[in-house]
Amino acid sequence: MTTMVHLFGGSATTAERAKELLGGKGSNLAEMASIGLPVPPGFTITTEVCTAYYANGESYPAGLAEEVVNGIVHIEGITGKKFGDATNPLLVSVRSGARVSMPGMMDTVLNLGLNDDTVKGLADASGDARFAWDSYRRFIQMYADVVMGLDHAEFEEALEVAKEDKGFFLDTEMSAEDWQKLVAEYQAIVERETGAPFPQEPRDQLWGAIGAVFESWESDRAKVYRRLNSIPAEWGTAVNVQAMVFGNMGDTSATGVAFTRDPATGERAWYGEWLINAQGEDVVAGIRTPQYLTKAARERAGAKPLSMEEAMPETFTELGNVFDTLENHYRDMQDIEFTVERGVLWMLQTRSGKRTAKAALKIAVDMAAEGLISEEEAVLRVDPSALDQLLHPTLDPKAPRDVLTKGLPASPGAASGKIMFDADSTEQAAAKGEAVILVRVETSPEDIHGMHAAKGILTARGGMTSHAAVVARGMGRPCVSGAGGLAIDNNAKVLRIGDRVLNEGDIITLDGGTGEVMAGEVPTLLPELVGDFGTLMTWADKVRRMKVRTNAETPADAQVARDFGAEGIGLCRTEHMFFDADRITAVREMILAEDEAGRRTALAKLLPEQRKDFAGIFGVMAGLPVTIRLLDPPLHEFLPTREEDFATVAAAAGVAVEKLKARANELHEFNPMLGHRGCRLGVTYPEIYEMQARAIFEAACDIAEQSGAAPIPEVMIPLVASRREFDLMKAVVDEAAQAVFAEKGRTLDYLVGTMIELPRAALMAGEIADAAEFFSFGTNDLTQTTIGISRDDAGRFLTQYVDKGIFLTDPFVSIDVEGVGQLIEIATERGRQTRPNIKLGICGEHGGDAPSIHFCEQTGLDYVSASPYRVPIARLAAAQSALKNR
Ligand code: ADP
Ligand code: MG
Ligand code: MG
Repeated sequence: MTTMVHLFGGSATTAERAKELLGGKGSNLAEMASIGLPVPPGFTITTEVCTAYYANGESYPAGLAEEVVNGIVHIEGITGKKFGDATNPLLVSVRSGARVSMPGMMDTVLNLGLNDDTVKGLADASGDARFAWDSYRRFIQMYADVVMGLDHAEFEEALEVAKEDKGFFLDTEMSAEDWQKLVAEYQAIVERETGAPFPQEPRDQLWGAIGAVFESWESDRAKVYRRLNSIPAEWGTAVNVQAMVFGNMGDTSATGVAFTRDPATGERAWYGEWLINAQGEDVVAGIRTPQYLTKAARERAGAKPLSMEEAMPETFTELGNVFDTLENHYRDMQDIEFTVERGVLWMLQTRSGKRTAKAALKIAVDMAAEGLISEEEAVLRVDPSALDQLLHPTLDPKAPRDVLTKGLPASPGAASGKIMFDADSTEQAAAKGEAVILVRVETSPEDIHGMHAAKGILTARGGMTSHAAVVARGMGRPCVSGAGGLAIDNNAKVLRIGDRVLNEGDIITLDGGTGEVMAGEVPTLLPELVGDFGTLMTWADKVRRMKVRTNAETPADAQVARDFGAEGIGLCRTEHMFFDADRITAVREMILAEDEAGRRTALAKLLPEQRKDFAGIFGVMAGLPVTIRLLDPPLHEFLPTREEDFATVAAAAGVAVEKLKARANELHEFNPMLGHRGCRLGVTYPEIYEMQARAIFEAACDIAEQSGAAPIPEVMIPLVASRREFDLMKAVVDEAAQAVFAEKGRTLDYLVGTMIELPRAALMAGEIADAAEFFSFGTNDLTQTTIGISRDDAGRFLTQYVDKGIFLTDPFVSIDVEGVGQLIEIATERGRQTRPNIKLGICGEHGGDAPSIHFCEQTGLDYVSASPYRVPIARLAAAQSALKNR
């Protein structure tokens, strides 16, 4: 291992800035220091040390202790203070920092280095005993919580009692003596709980905190977050040790958090919260109500306490200059943390700010217009999956709203659902397909899985930068935080808002854009696809290589997809069409018929219906390719189960009920997924495919006749495993086409191809391509058949497979590139060898997933096909992949 500790601040010009090594926080601290911003000096212990720590049975690599001592000496040199010194003590913060920010996952310890001696030194050196003892009590509580794992409730209770005794309301009312007394109580608590006195030796404190940061990497909540965000365990976290600066040194001191642009709307306005005479997490903890940063924001909110712009105009101007420097340097919106110590501004953190999809779009488009980034960079700046937030309906402004209360518009979007009061119930209900609104006093990292499962989040406490707000925005969940007048009884599972009483399971609606909380379900409207969205999509389409089609089987879905920019249909399933109430009887009659003649009679009833289906879709997609898959599912899926259904079918077909039942029995399968389905139906009952092909060509001719824009039918044979199967089915389709063309007196271009969804098909692709004019990778089934996992049953163990690192992500969500991907590559290569211009696309669910789309681009497929609402996501993802692949 190379250098384990990297210095920043002062004259330290560490060349190393890699996030992989220093973590995001450490890397950006070094970066800020190097461009001349005021950063308290410190050092970063690399992520490699964390990895080595776990590789070596949780022990530190040799030489680390010396390097850490050097780091402390570096800080001492710049600050002129000494670690552990009784007259002029150096205090440090110990901060975790992984490569990507993991909000709330790792805890920071502040004011480390205080003990019964140094606290007096700090009081003398600063001339402020109140401040010194306030810092000491903060340190003991944080250290006890984060490092020793003691319950912080006991400490908070002691503080509450102390304040009550004095009749105080705010922490800031406590005097030096009050804090000193509390410190003694805190020490007593530690001794009672651990059986040992609070550690007095600063070096022990330091190593205790460093160890706690590394340990927290493997905490349950960190693991959950990693799983949800596909962060590998090997990345590890870095540890940052940094000189303390103090925002709690009276009224010329303060601490705050800010964004260089509005993270909810993207508007170019400084946006943030701050508190006078406070430290660390006070701003986001919700103990005191934070103040607004700018005068405009304060006035808009009608708040009294002064903004920073008004209370500290000079420092505010300085902060504004820092914002500009940071935006110009990073060329992106920044999320920063700062502290003012006796009028002096210090920067404690910067990172690319999390933002809503709306803000992401606006910031990308604005920054391109400002000349800060190029159009192509703008395209790369927006996370395709975040568009999901924008592509979904918003509340109908004309619909009546029964507004219960109003909170902060913490994360935009509208959501309705049943209220639940804890994360586990939310997760369980969501797993059953229910829409849930998670209601909490405030959220914490333990709630992450519930927040993920919920449609929306409502909290009684917390501001715009509270845990709930930050996490919800990151996940794209609508969130209303700090909603006034919410009384939550977690035990009784009752929510009271004024005189309204809501029970678990009652439905409410949230508007994350306005902060409104409404009773019942409020109807929604489709999104508008103009403005910044339209602009970015135009830029994306300029660089995109792959076409984007949609999976749709109704004209309505096809229309939505076309409005979203779909360039054809990649998968039109035909089985759903068979379930229609007025057709199912004919379908059943066809299935249960004993011979071809019986089947043909039933199919004749279905033909005009199918023709109508296809005409509707061709009408919407006129001039564009439409891939229609012939009947695929096992027939038993259509069979009657109820007595009266048997009677209806029997009457329609003119046979006895008993005979029908016997036939239904015959059709029973042990493993339908691997049974009589796909082209196996066409091989045994060619007349089914014949009818479907006829319906397709009749409809296509009719639409060509009516509209002048001929659709381009691409008839797709499912579940092919061999060339011979395909040849037989293609002959049926071609024959139907010729017959229809002769009848209609016109011909149309069409293709016949196959879905590649069996490993054998992928391997035999060279031969199959000799006859097939296109391949569409049906990656849902290809994943099932390659890994041998049934998607419907995978839920029971898949989470564990992801947790244990067997799969990096759910292979039904993102293509398993290594395995399934290899088959796609083989099929692509072999198919193209035989037929260089063979058309290649993907239709499974993966067609709307950005990492899978990236794989398709790299493999050189011609198009991806996604569900209608994911079409814009696919357009953007395909554009990004094209740029990255250059
Ligand atoms: P998180 O990752 O949870 O944001 P941080 O390491 O950024 O944790 O620490 C949280 C807060 O602690 C910071 O926002 C800052 O206010 C305070 N803090 C951290 N380091 C220092 C320091 N050296 N001096 C003063 N305050 C600090
Ligand atoms: Mg934190
Ligand atoms: Mg921070």
